[in-house]
Amino acid sequence: MNIINSLTGMIDLIDNSSNKEEIANKIFFTEKILKKTFENFHFYEIRTPALEDTDLFKRSVGDTSDIVNKELYSFQDKNEKSITLRPEGTASVIRSIIEKKLDGDPQKLWYLGPMWRYERPQKGRYRQFNQAGVEILGYEEGMSELELISMVCCINKEFKIESPVIKINHLGSNETKNNFCKALVKYLSPMKESLNEKDLSRLSKNPLRILDTKDSKIQTILKKGPQISDYLSEESLNMLKLIKKTFSNDCEIIIDHNLVRGLDYYSGFVFEAISPNLGAQDAYLGGGRYDNLCKQLGGKDLPAIGMAIGIERLALISNIFKNDKTLVSFIIISSNLEQKAYKIAHDIRMMNSEIEINVQLSDGSLKSKLRRANKDKSSYAIIVGDEELQTDTVILKSLSDKEFKQKTLDLKELKQFITNLE
Ligand code: AMP
Repeated sequence: MNIINSLTGMIDLIDNSSNKEEIANKIFFTEKILKKTFENFHFYEIRTPALEDTDLFKRSVGDTSDIVNKELYSFQDKNEKSITLRPEGTASVIRSIIEKKLDGDPQKLWYLGPMWRYERPQKGRYRQFNQAGVEILGYEEGMSELELISMVCCINKEFKIESPVIKINHLGSNETKNNFCKALVKYLSPMKESLNEKDLSRLSKNPLRILDTKDSKIQTILKKGPQISDYLSEESLNMLKLIKKTFSNDCEIIIDHNLVRGLDYYSGFVFEAISPNLGAQDAYLGGGRYDNLCKQLGGKDLPAIGMAIGIERLALISNIFKNDKTLVSFIIISSNLEQKAYKIAHDIRMMNSEIEINVQLSDGSLKSKLRRANKDKSSYAIIVGDEELQTDTVILKSLSDKEFKQKTLDLKELKQFITNLE
C-alpha cells in the first residue's frame, strides 16, 4: 500500500530525541521561553481560531500584498462560504477584540500558533509555520514603540543571538505615505522598461513595496529618486533617533529607509530583526504600527502596534538549550506483579515534581531496559523485580556519577532519596 506523506512545506515536529540540538526540541523550547518573556512583560494570552472568513485578510493584510494575492489557503466550506487558514495573527486578534467590544480598552496581548502561506518552500520558509506575536492596543506612538523594541532586545539576550541587528524605519502618516508614493510613481514611470514584472505590478498597486526590491539595478535607480526621509515629519525622524539612542548598547540598530513590510496595514514605525546566520530569509521577527486597522475592520479608532516572531527561524539561531531535569528510569522486571511495582513509581512521582521519571512500559530484558536508560541519559535507574517486591525494596543504580554503583533501598530510604533529588 502507498505511504501517505505530509504535504509540501509542512513539517512534523517530533520530540523523540535526547539530542538538545534537534530542531523539534529547539522549537518546543523556544516556545516555552517566549511565553515566559511575554509573561515577564505582563502581556495576556489570546487564542483565536485557525480558520477565518476570507474577507478578514482581504480587508486587513490587503489585496495588493503577496500574502493575499498568491499565498492564501482559501476553501469553500460546505455552505459555500469562503474561509481561509490564517496567514498571520494580527487580523484575527483585531477581529476578536472588535467582536467582543474590547476595542475601547488599552491592552497588551500575546499569541502563539501555526500560520499558513502557500509559498515556495526553502530554508526557513514553510507553508505551515509557527508564529508568536504581541499586540499593544490603545496607545499612541511613543512608549509602546520603546516597549516593543525593549522586548526584542530581551528576546535577543534570552536566546543568546549572535550579533543581533534591528532595522527600523518610519512610514509616516497616511498623508506622508501618499505624497511620497505619488513622487515615487512620477519618478519611476518614465523608466518602466527597467522594472521587472513584479516591481511593475507594485508600481501600479502598491508603489511603497518597490523599496523592498531585490533587483540591484532597481536599487541603484531608487537611490537617485525621492527618499521617504525627505517626506517624514521631524517627530517621526526623532522617533527613529530615540529608538537608536535607547537601545544601541544592546544591539546594532540600523535606520533603513527602504524597510517596508509585506502587509498593507502598517503605517508609522516599522522594524525587523535580522540574522546573517539565516541565509536569504534573514528576518526572524518583524512588526510595526497599524493605527488604521481596527477602524478599517469596523471597530473603533484604536492606535496599535505589534510584532510577529517566526518560531522556526528563532529556533535555528537560538544558542540556548533545554536544561534537562534529572531523569530516573523506572524498570519493572516482574512477570505477574507489574501493577504492584507500578504503584511504587506512582508514589515517587507524587513526591517530587522537579524530576522526570520514565516508567519503561515495554517488555524486555533488564539488559535492554538499562541500555534504553543509558541512551535516554538517565541519571539513575530504579529496578524492581519479584524479589524486591517480596522484601519491599528496590535496586537503585547510578548511571551518571561514581558516588555509588548500585545499592538496595527499602521504601522509606527510596522516599528520602527521591525527595532530595533536584
Ligand atoms: P510577517 O508576518 O510576514 O511579518 O513575518 C513575521 C515573521 O514570521 C518573519 O520574520 C519570519 O520569521 C516568520 N515567517 C514568515 N513567513 C514564514 C514562512 N513561510 N515560514 C517560516 N517563517 C515565516
